[in-house]
Amino acid sequence: MIEKFELFLEKQNLSCVKKEISMKSLTTIKCGGKADYLIEPDNYDELSKIFKFICGNNILYQILGNGSNVLVSDLGFPGVVISLKNLPYLIELHEGKLSVAAHIELAHLQKKCIFEGLSGLEFLSGIPGTVGGIIAMNAGAFGHDVSSVIDSIKTVTHEGKIINLRDENIEFSYRKTKLPYEQYIISEGTFNVQKTNMQKVKELCDFYISQRKSTNLWRAMTFGSTFKNGEDYYAGELIEKCGLKGFSIGDAQISKSHANFIINNGNASSKEVYLLIQKMKDEVLEKFGKNLELEVKLWGDFSYAGK
Ligand SMILES: Cc1cc2nc3c(=O)[nH]c(=O)nc-3n(C[C@H](O)[C@H](O)[C@H](O)COP(=O)(O)OP(=O)(O)OC[C@H]3O[C@@H](n4cnc5c(N)ncnc54)[C@H](O)[C@@H]3O)c2cc1C
Repeated sequence: MIEKFELFLEKQNLSCVKKEISMKSLTTIKCGGKADYLIEPDNYDELSKIFKFICGNNILYQILGNGSNVLVSDLGFPGVVISLKNLPYLIELHEGKLSVAAHIELAHLQKKCIFEGLSGLEFLSGIPGTVGGIIAMNAGAFGHDVSSVIDSIKTVTHEGKIINLRDENIEFSYRKTKLPYEQYIISEGTFNVQKTNMQKVKELCDFYISQRKSTNLWRAMTFGSTFKNGEDYYAGELIEKCGLKGFSIGDAQISKSHANFIINNGNASSKEVYLLIQKMKDEVLEKFGKNLELEVKLWGDFSYAGK
């Protein structure tokens, strides 16, 4: 399979490919091994061609946004990681709708919204993801999520076609997005926004960011919430009630300020983080009979970590 992929890359004369790339610096938790390949196309033609080949040949792949919701195994990821970061820049306002390229980071989008006095996306302030990542995860905060502000998206399909999907064709649920097809890359998102004034938008963004800063997790090496909340419980509350706040394995620690967050205090391995995840899950199951569901995405094989 790899030989076939190498041949394809050679034939297409693609220069956007890197091999054996450490995922440590590409994720916000800052641990994990190497990906076999990292692909960073700078145009949509290349992206479509590569994605079609990958899907058509059953090559293992992942799409990388800002890596703020991902834990990569210490053994690495045995496949292709696709990053959109070199694709053309796009933030465009048209009749109350803001179209944004998937690789644009939210921090940048927020600045643009403040500058243009565009309201609607303030609740996303401080989430360290990209536009593609927040749509794929239906990210949310402060009682709102992406599904409430999305108008449509553009995706690259497994056939390498670029397709527009309106919100009614997207199935959003809690931290999950389902499209009519399994394999896709979100290449653009269009959001409903309202024109107001700069000051108003800035004040609301500042408010949400100040709320985040008060939890001491601002700028920490973490992937945010480890587990999803359930219908009748908050994962963090159950973990806290198990007395696990501050518990650590090596340099990986359950945050003292929010029990659903794991922090890398410097040199944590993914194994240490994974063992903490297991510990949180096991103790909550034993004490409360609740089976916590992971929010963070695990990339690669973790069977080496044991229990
Ligand atoms: C400090 C901190 C605070 C956080 N607070 C919140 C919060 O309040 N609310 C919240 O919901 N999340 C929060 N998160 C989690 C995380 O930021 C979000 O899940 C975010 O949406 C992930 O975006 P990303 O670009 O980093 O995606 P990544 O972490 O790179 O990827 C996440 C998933 O999305 C997929 N994906 C990414 N880009 C694309 C694309 N273009 N097309 C298809 N699939 C794609 C990936 O394959 C992966 O499965 C927080 C994380 C941190 C570190």
